Amino acid sequence: MCSAYTAATGSVAGPPGVRTDWGPLTGTEPTIAVRLRGLSKRFGSGDAAVDAVRDVSLDVHDGEFLTLLGPSGSGKTTVLRMIAGFELPTSGTIELAGADVTNTPPFDRDVNTVFQDYALFPHMTVQQNVEYGLRVAKVPKDDRRRRAQESLEAVRLTGYGDRKPQQLSGGQRQRVALARALVNRPQVLLLDEPLGALDLKLREQMQIELKEIQRQVGITFIFVTHDQEEALTMSDRIAVFDSGGIEQVGSPEDVYERPASEFVAGFVGTSNLLLPEAASTVLGRAGLYSIRPEKIRLAPAGSAPSADEHGVAGTVREVIYLGTGTRFLVDLSVGGSLMVLQQNLHSRDLHPQRGDDVQLLWQRVDEYPVSA
Ligand code: ATP
Repeated sequence: MCSAYTAATGSVAGPPGVRTDWGPLTGTEPTIAVRLRGLSKRFGSGDAAVDAVRDVSLDVHDGEFLTLLGPSGSGKTTVLRMIAGFELPTSGTIELAGADVTNTPPFDRDVNTVFQDYALFPHMTVQQNVEYGLRVAKVPKDDRRRRAQESLEAVRLTGYGDRKPQQLSGGQRQRVALARALVNRPQVLLLDEPLGALDLKLREQMQIELKEIQRQVGITFIFVTHDQEEALTMSDRIAVFDSGGIEQVGSPEDVYERPASEFVAGFVGTSNLLLPEAASTVLGRAGLYSIRPEKIRLAPAGSAPSADEHGVAGTVREVIYLGTGTRFLVDLSVGGSLMVLQQNLHSRDLHPQRGDDVQLLWQRVDEYPVSA
């Protein structure tokens, strides 16, 4: 992990004069809600065997919103299903609040799961759906009613208790599913692509609401998605998955600004790499470097970099207008290409056009070495 955060001191590296001490850590080290150690899962055997999860170790802090992010088939759902107890690991251990639950059946684990397809009972009202788990657990009626109402209030659905699921919008149905999962106050809530069925606008709105709800109820959320923007928007920390293993764990800023591998640099945000030959010419250093498109400035050809900048000449190959900004694909004189993102602060006439020679400039602190 490439975080500047040091657990030993509780401080964050920052410029002089800026407060970086967030209070003493004594007694404030995060409690671990979920601890995974050497977790692996193999499906099938022989030639047909699939190693869905390979040697995953991860600590999820109490009250944290942690996202498992990765492409389709990278093992995220399998990890979630093993935490829930729906799937047994081939090797490794799972602890919940310090207790080993590796072989504990799902109903004896203090976790609930919210799925993408809501799985609401269509013939029951919203209130009955939310109360269902409590009824099965034989919680007295008054208590059940009160807790379901509190849960509906937490997801901002007070007054919707008498409706049937088909009388609700997609976003409201998803919130009922959330209320139902929250009603027995699980220690950990597992969410498997819960916003996947919603259209983009609703999805963006629900991302903000879900984060607010999580903060309010204080329950640990483990959220699975393949959508990097969703992960960056909502998470306290992100675990980036590839081919069944974890590539990097860190805050959204860590994984975006300081990707630990070429895979992370490409999967989280736009892949923008200065190739080794170009790096040795431009930076005077060997290796592969990531520079985020919004950190690069377009300047007239021949502009000299300042003392804390690096620069390279190039020719604009493509100009893509995005409304709030414009994306430029620039072929570098030293080989390879870089993407540049500029905000549309000025009229489009002032932008370089396709075929123009330009100079790309960036702050040296914004070039980040990526281990291939
Ligand atoms: P998605 O985003 O598409 O849900 P994922 O990252 O959650 O993907 P998993 O569903 O965990 O990935 O699957 C990981 C790998 O394990 C895939 O290659 C998948 O085909 C395989 N797999 C998952 N479940 C089973 C199963 N029950 N039997 C055999 N192979 C499985």
